[in-house]
Amino acid sequence: MIHQGRPISPGAARGPAFVINGRLLLDAAIKWSPVGTPQQETERLHSARIQADAQLRSVERQFVAQGNSDDAGIFAAHALLLNDPGLAERITAAIKEQTLSAEAAIAQVTFEIERQFLESNSSMLHDKVTDILDIGQRLIRCLRGMSTAAAIDGGVIVSESLTPSDFVRAVHQGAIAAVTATCGQKSHTAILARGFALPFITGVAAFDQITSGTDLFVDGDTARVVIDPTPEVMSLADSDREHDAKHSVGVPITADGTRMTVLLNISDPSEAEVVAEIGADGVGLYRTEFLYMDRTTWPSEDESFEVYAAVAKAVGDRELNFRLADFGAEKCPPYADIPLSRNPALGIRGIRFLLARADIRTPQVRALARLARQRPLTVLLPMVDTVDNLQAAIECLRRDCKCRREEDLPFRLGTMIEVPSAALQIEEIIEYVDSIAIGLNDLTQYLLAADRDDEMVESHHDALQPAVLRLVRRVIEVADQHDRPVTMCGELAGDPLLSRVLPGLGARRFSISQSHYRATVTRLQSIHLDQQKNVAEQVLLSVSGAAVRSRLSSNTDRA
Ligand code: PEP
Ligand code: MG
Repeated sequence: MIHQGRPISPGAARGPAFVINGRLLLDAAIKWSPVGTPQQETERLHSARIQADAQLRSVERQFVAQGNSDDAGIFAAHALLLNDPGLAERITAAIKEQTLSAEAAIAQVTFEIERQFLESNSSMLHDKVTDILDIGQRLIRCLRGMSTAAAIDGGVIVSESLTPSDFVRAVHQGAIAAVTATCGQKSHTAILARGFALPFITGVAAFDQITSGTDLFVDGDTARVVIDPTPEVMSLADSDREHDAKHSVGVPITADGTRMTVLLNISDPSEAEVVAEIGADGVGLYRTEFLYMDRTTWPSEDESFEVYAAVAKAVGDRELNFRLADFGAEKCPPYADIPLSRNPALGIRGIRFLLARADIRTPQVRALARLARQRPLTVLLPMVDTVDNLQAAIECLRRDCKCRREEDLPFRLGTMIEVPSAALQIEEIIEYVDSIAIGLNDLTQYLLAADRDDEMVESHHDALQPAVLRLVRRVIEVADQHDRPVTMCGELAGDPLLSRVLPGLGARRFSISQSHYRATVTRLQSIHLDQQKNVAEQVLLSVSGAAVRSRLSSNTDRA
């Protein structure tokens, strides 16, 4: 089926649809109750404004450093709008006069301004609608410590409209094209799309008939979006992708004959189809929390079971690892009443949230237990921090599954190792589980005290620091001694430099995103493990990140 729209940015691309609803957060926030007095809510607003301003200035500086003054100007303009004293006054008045939460007041004022802009006769103000929505959402995310990290990699963003922030974030996460119902030609989102040379079509009225995972071909030159394109309608633009898809990369056997295991990280059930298509060994990490994001209510046990069963069907008899929903910090469904923490990355999240919320945990565990009675699977616990919480979680699972003993759980049990305290107590933790998955993204974040979502500390979130590598080595060693499979997970596992050192540290199992699959398998096919071990030994003796990098690059130069 072909839909005609209006061109925003030229070029052609094909990929699975990734449907996002940018207004969902504002729609939800309008109902959130205050957590403090009006004075405290006003103070929260003040802190969020300072944080939002710092974020905008940081993105602006990055664009300036890249010599991209046009895009820098967009974020400077956002900072101006944000700092308009009239905006703060309106939100504060709504907090005080209507006793609203800061979030609800922001959402209310954002929608009022949106209406005013849309009712005006000025096309300039129409083009500014996405900017004001963007600022409203940014403020709420700052208040709640949220980001929109999601698996868009290789996908086409489909949305009613897209704010510049959502757009930039999506591009950073690997989006390859965009389709919307509305977008001003001179809007900042349109300007950004052209700057990124990313095919973009707007005016597609039928955008709401497209569901996540639908195969789309976006032709920005003719402003057409093709749903489930046949080979006949495909342009040359996606021939390379077709070529890659048809030519299997082969089995991940190293040059000296060791069979490695390469699994996929998935966040959306539609991605499970890819596992068999590309010949991966299974799903190493299904981030089930994303199932909760694009909804307005918690899923029931039955609904969850349906989705999990569909994933299992797509994966066939390959390995399947489901992680219990990892809520908190940047991953909060808009409708979740997750308690606010001053620092959400260190607050109620992962296993702590699951222990406190049987109402959310039990239906998910029971859905997984039902599936586990039909096929083998592993349930991974997120953000395990201490033996105390691990023991408590196992006790909860036992009760959820109505088992008399832990040994009677219908699934295999695994744990993420992504909090340094758990990594340091790996000898004890490992006794309780059948397998472990090292979450390199969070392990690096917590070990180096560098927020993985904060652009200002991006360079400090560095998995090539000796402290990270030595801890990873220790965890792998202990897992090997206890004969437990250990999988390297997280986006960093597919990082080209890091994946050069991980096999030498003993890693034999990787779980990575689809977009890293081909490159990772090809890299593994070219390595000799003895050489890798020598490199890793040198790297482990390095005292700094710079020394690690220099050893790795001199080794690559010689290879
Ligand atoms: C990680 O922290 O590396 C991980 C795999 O979990 P997530 O990225 O979903 O937090
Ligand atoms: Mg993690």
